[in-house]
Formats: sequence, structure tokens, C-alpha cells
Amino acid sequence: MSELTDLTLSECISGLQGGDFSSLELVRAYLQRIERLDNSLHAYLCVLAEQALAQAKDADRRLSSWRKEQEAPPPLMGVPLAVKDVLCVEGAPTTCGSRILENFTPPFTATAVERLQKAGAIVLGKTNTDEFAMGSSTENSAYGLTRNPWDPQRVPGGSSGGSAAAVAARLAPAALGTDTGGSVRQPASFCGVTGLKPTYGSVSRYGLVAFGSSLDVVGVLAHDARDAALVFQHMAGRDPLDATSVERNLTPSDLTRAPFPEREGELRGLRIGVPREYFIPGLQAEVEQAVRAALALFESLGAELVEVNLPHTEYALPVYYLVAPAEASANLARFDGIRYGPRLPADELWQVYRRTRGQKFGPEVKRRIMLGTYALSAGYYDAYYGQAQKVRTLIRQDFERAFQQVDVIAAPVTPNTAFVIGEHSDDPLSMYLEDIFTIPANLAGIPGLAFPVGFDQQGLPVGMQLMGPHFREDLLLGAAGVYQQATDWHRRTPPDGRSG
Ligand code: GLN
Repeated sequence: MSELTDLTLSECISGLQGGDFSSLELVRAYLQRIERLDNSLHAYLCVLAEQALAQAKDADRRLSSWRKEQEAPPPLMGVPLAVKDVLCVEGAPTTCGSRILENFTPPFTATAVERLQKAGAIVLGKTNTDEFAMGSSTENSAYGLTRNPWDPQRVPGGSSGGSAAAVAARLAPAALGTDTGGSVRQPASFCGVTGLKPTYGSVSRYGLVAFGSSLDVVGVLAHDARDAALVFQHMAGRDPLDATSVERNLTPSDLTRAPFPEREGELRGLRIGVPREYFIPGLQAEVEQAVRAALALFESLGAELVEVNLPHTEYALPVYYLVAPAEASANLARFDGIRYGPRLPADELWQVYRRTRGQKFGPEVKRRIMLGTYALSAGYYDAYYGQAQKVRTLIRQDFERAFQQVDVIAAPVTPNTAFVIGEHSDDPLSMYLEDIFTIPANLAGIPGLAFPVGFDQQGLPVGMQLMGPHFREDLLLGAAGVYQQATDWHRRTPPDGRSG
């Protein structure tokens, strides 16, 4: 048998339920591997070893009593998961990669995490992130960068870079991330794992530290589409504590079956839109080649490729970089040195705010607060924020029109594979350009799924994304599932990440 840490989440579940190994053995295997590899990788900001071991023992007791009584255990019983450090877990530090929350321990757990725990999952630890999820490389974390398991000189992407690196390096079988402008899909692509950004509103954000409230969604990083579906299914749905959340009655078979199940392993009848605007000059040649090869395979599996237009794509980046900072500037006003985290004392209240915020926020966060405050200020609101909202509607309508013609849309995830650490650090605009293909789905609120479709000449993973109409994660997961049955890109492991 391979190492326990090589198993997918679904394999972990069947092994645990079948009694092939215990939850304690599984959690120990991950903790040992984290101990061995994470000093250099730095995927985790904190590892919850003691709690995880105690919960694993408890899960084993419950699993064995269930086995005796021949009853089905809760679906994720005894399975470890990693959680991005922007989601609250009761009693565990939640820093958002920021000094302004360096001593903050939330007294409650985010609904998304709590639902997974109710289904039996165990939180292994909190993963590294760009400060307040602002970034595309995890270099903006105040606690040091995370390295890409495929090449330690390169970034894992961001902002959910810790989660993506943890899954790629087998330091967790799956992990939660968040996606405001691409933060699940882009790191998934850079690290060669599968990343699901669900439809806006599908997963409660209660207990998620807010960045851009009209864009934020909790997503999953996993080894394959099937595992992503499993985690998504158990955390999705209406939560009275998040007014934007909607009811989703999802069953595992809804999400993992092929879109047209009467022909198992085939995609006949699936119309895949290929938007001209996503195959642009500047796209790394090997990325284009790998994505085109994947499209050809989809075609050979029965899908029909249809050229579509998304004419307002070029405005997505400027729209996002008005809307997201505007919302962030309002959301981050709560970090004032009074209510959360450290306080730098001063004689006057305004000086407390100024000193604490001035010293404890990092440069990218300050840049966004300033941009956002400016875009929302009297006299400029209509010209910037108001205008951006109008163009956002045009971008959403582009997708609505395209989805009258096709079932899903396929595109690259990023213009290039993982870049070298420091490459974009001095030039925020060049960093923002990394998000050019992921941001439109957030502006439209539609689901997106990134999954590996090849490697470039340097051995770095290339990702492709499928986008679908609102609430049609099933189409994306089903189609990627069929692709993953026919390929093994998603099974490749980073060179020194091999344990078996
Ligand atoms: N990279 C984008 C940004 O910096 C997206 C971040 C995200 O999705 N959280 O805003």
C-alpha cells in the first residue's frame, strides 16, 4: 500500500470506514510529514497537533462502535483537513496573515468549518495566506512566504497559497481556501491541484474575515474533482448568520456524476465555450498548448467546442481593482486597535487608531485601503465605484449571453505558470495582472473550477478552468471528473514531495 498521505480524501474515507487504518494513524502520518517538510515549505501558520490527535482518537472510538452496529458513520468521520487562516476556528489563532491580528483567537468557528466538523472532519491546522487574502503569491503574508512544492524558488500562488501547497505536498488531503478574485483557482493551478470556487452565496461566510463582501466565497483545494465535490457538498447551504447564503440541497451523486450520465465516462452533448478574449498575446505558449490539448481531449470524449465572445473581459481587472479595494476599505475599518488584536497605546483615541493601523497593516493592505477610500469618497464615488458597478453588470451579462449558447466555458487559469519569488514584488500592477482570467467569474458570481492539464518545460503544473452558470458546480465537477478519469495529471506529485 502507498503511504497514507498519498491517499485522496475519498480513499481516506473508505479506508477509515473499512477499518484499513485508524484516524489516529492518518492524523499522525500527516503531522509527521508536516514536521518533516513544512519548515522549508511553510504552508501552515499553525498546526493544531494536540487537538487533532484528541479528535482522531474520539473519531476512532465512534467509527468502531458504528462498525459494530453496522450503521453509516458521519460522512467525513476522522478525516483531517487544513483551513486557510482567514476562517475562524474556535480556540485557534486566526491571523489573516496580518500583524494586526497577531494575538487574536476567535471564540467561535466559521459555519463552513463547523459544518465539516459536524460531518466528522478534523482541522489539522491553519494555512498561510497573503495578508487579508490580498495578493497572488502568499508573499504578502506578515509571517513569511510559502514555497511552491514543485520548485522552492517559486511562489505557490495566492492568496490561498498555504492551502494549495499543503495539498500538493501531501501535508493535508484537502484544504479550505477563499476566492475573491482567484485565490482558490490561481494557487490550485500553480501547485497542480484541483480548486473549486463555488457560486457566490453557496457557502456561508459567517466566521470568514471579510475582504470584498460582494465577491468573497469559501472554496476547496483538493486532489481531484471528486474530493472537491465531497468537501463542497458538506459545507454548502443556507445559514441564517450570512444573509447572502442560499439553500443548496446537494447530494454526492449530483456533484460527481458526469453531466450526461447515461453515457458513463463520456461528455457527449456537453457544449464547451472557448472565449476568444482568454487566448491573448502574452499568454505563456506552454499554457496555451496544455489548455488546447485538454480541449482536444474534451472533444474526443464527446464534448462540442464552440467559440464564444465575452466582449467586456478587458474591463474586469480595472472594475475588480475598484470594487474589491472599496469593499475592503469598509470591511477593514473594524481593525482599529480597540476591538481585535494588538493596541499601540497613545494619549488620544485617534492616535491609537493611527499608530495601530499604521504599524500593524502591511503595505499592500494599506494600498488597498487608500485606493478604496478614494474610490468611495464624496465627489469621486460616481466616477469610480458607481461606474465600476455598471461595467460589472455588463461583464455578468456577457456570461449570461454566452451560457445561452454553451453549458460551460473553458479558459486558462493564469497567463503563466508559477513565477519566481520576488518577481512581482516591486510592481503591484504586474501582480494584479496575474488575476486577469480569474476575476471575471467573481464579478459575475459564477462558479469556477481549476484543475491540472499538463506541465511546462520547467516541470511546473499548468491549470485550466471551467466556468459555469450560477449554481451549476455539478457541470464543472462532472466534466472535470470525466477528464480526470482519462488523464493522470492530477495524480502527479512534486519531486521531493514523494513519500511512497
Ligand atoms: N489576487 C487577487 C487580489 O489580490 C485575488 C485575491 C483573492 O481572491 N482573495 O485581490
